[in-house]
Amino acid sequence: MVSSKIVSILQEIVKVLEGKQEELNRLDANIGDGDHGRTVAGAFKNVLKQEKELEGKDIGEALQIIGRTLAFSTGAATGPLYGSAFIEAGKKLKGKEKLSLEDWKEALSGAVEGVKRRGKAEVGDKTMLDTLYPMAKSLEDSIEKGESLKEALLKAKDAAKRGMESTKELVSKRGRSSRLGERTKGHIDPGAASSYYVIETIIKSCLKGE
Ligand code: ADP
Ligand code: MG
Repeated sequence: MVSSKIVSILQEIVKVLEGKQEELNRLDANIGDGDHGRTVAGAFKNVLKQEKELEGKDIGEALQIIGRTLAFSTGAATGPLYGSAFIEAGKKLKGKEKLSLEDWKEALSGAVEGVKRRGKAEVGDKTMLDTLYPMAKSLEDSIEKGESLKEALLKAKDAAKRGMESTKELVSKRGRSSRLGERTKGHIDPGAASSYYVIETIIKSCLKGE
């Protein structure tokens, strides 16, 4: 069943984010208000509370339900941004019960566009986009090279990680941290880090048993 697989991935995401909560709070304390770990773990916990709504849904519908819940789960910037990412990814996966490499690429491109539009952000602004965009690009490259889904997902995970790490050298142009300007250099962006952990968890869970 698709929805039970999605619920188990959500449970895994909550577990990982709870484990990373303090680290993410600290990253946010460097350049923001120190709440990111609590916010993002809380938002996904809230989604899990609504797991009944996912019953019988295909992947596209489920991601949109998850996105709508995330969007309204927090007062922080994260909720609507994560929400848009999931909603736009879900719109690309209407009726899907299983994902091809092409579907993954479409979903990630949707997520990138969703965050760009919602946050009025561009790649390089030191946000979660700097994790998501390299992943979308890597999936595109893998399609061109004719790589297998497994190979492509492993590469995309690494690209997302490098993207997250690249935020350390960037100056924040969006969100609360943008007020600190140059002083944000030298710190990894908390949203880029949490999105990496979410992506890493989704990919690992999807590859389990492949
Ligand atoms: P808040 O700043 O409201 O406390 P969080 O701490 O939960 O929200 O989330 C901050 C993260 O949200 C940032 O690290 C960044 O990745 C992301 N973010 C903030 N504003 C934007 C934006 N306009 N566009 C894209 N991402 C953003
Ligand atoms: Mg914050």
